[in-house]
Amino acid sequence: MKLKFEAAPKPTDVTPDQWQDWGWQLRSSLKSQTDYAKYFELHDTEKNAFQKGQQLFNVRTTPYYASLASRTNHLDPIRRILTPHEKELYDPKQAQLDPLGERKNSNNPTPRIIHRYSDRVLFLITDVCSVYCRYCTRKHFTGADQAFIQQSEYESAINYIKKTTGLREVILSGGDPLTISDAHLDRVLTDLRKIDHVEIIRIGTRMPVVAPMRITQSLVNIIRKAKPVFLMTHFNHPRELTAEAAEAVEKFVDHGIPVMNQMVLLNGVNNHAAIVQALSRRLLYLRAKPYYMFQCDPSIGTDYLRTTLENSLEIQKELWGHLSGLALPQLSVDIPDGGGKTYYVPKFETSASLEKRDYVGWDGVQAEYVNPDATSIIKPFDYEIYLTEWNEIRQSKF
Ligand code: SF4
Repeated sequence: MKLKFEAAPKPTDVTPDQWQDWGWQLRSSLKSQTDYAKYFELHDTEKNAFQKGQQLFNVRTTPYYASLASRTNHLDPIRRILTPHEKELYDPKQAQLDPLGERKNSNNPTPRIIHRYSDRVLFLITDVCSVYCRYCTRKHFTGADQAFIQQSEYESAINYIKKTTGLREVILSGGDPLTISDAHLDRVLTDLRKIDHVEIIRIGTRMPVVAPMRITQSLVNIIRKAKPVFLMTHFNHPRELTAEAAEAVEKFVDHGIPVMNQMVLLNGVNNHAAIVQALSRRLLYLRAKPYYMFQCDPSIGTDYLRTTLENSLEIQKELWGHLSGLALPQLSVDIPDGGGKTYYVPKFETSASLEKRDYVGWDGVQAEYVNPDATSIIKPFDYEIYLTEWNEIRQSKF
């Protein structure tokens, strides 16, 4: 079946030129109850959040993203992502300001750099997002409204990356790195590319979802010049894949920039196998790899948006065997307090011993995997050739 992508419904009082201008989208963002009330028939749960929520996480959305949500139904999945709910203010089961432990447990050698894993660093180049997702895990950082980091912070971050020769990958994040200007992004990518040991650059962004007009030819040229760069998108629902978003994704891929998608499983938004498969197949059709299906982190105010792990595992099990490995995202949980990622696969193993393991497969096939003789295990004779680079990476953080 040929998959179709529908254009977002542009409001009649906005000109096509305004609508296609990402600067206009950012300048015209909805930020207050009054702004939201122009787009939506606000429900009491939403009004209460605006009125009582002095401590609410920032509120903001582009008009483009608002146009994808239902005007009348507050239970609409996209509306749940972009509109505050009074439950954000309730007593939580678990609420952490920094669930990834980026402040507490990480080796943060300089402001804006988070060095949690040996071979890669997060480089937080802006605090700003064009939409503040209600489930955001980085509430301790996003929304501080500093569009581009200060010069002194920038220089010390670049110097850290330069002198840490075991690093292989830099992940640009924030905030949303694609909210900064082309000139700033060009500078960051050019400076990183001058560092010999940086092999891979990743850009984590929600702009193709919430303001796909940001993906201009000039932006794509800047990113392509810095290859290899991987674009990590953040589509959560098939309705976010409009004609505009599809064009943005294809523009990257057509220019040799791989696109990987990281979704978050969210209660009442996408926690059904039918929705995950619809999103994943559409992404794959556009040549974007569905990469992660994250369990929502217990960030402050997110209890009502979090699924139970059992709910997430059920969804994964239902998808297994019916969706190709290319389309199936990996279910992953970030262990709170910065414990790192853990992955889940449905449990098919029924018993294990040193000699063999027994399985019942996804559609009921029973079989065993018998180990070869353990005394036959040898090391590849040429492994020492690669030991130096491996040790350099392993020792980069500690
Ligand atoms: S775009 Fe990402 S960082 Fe920004 S609010 Fe949404 S989830 Fe948080």
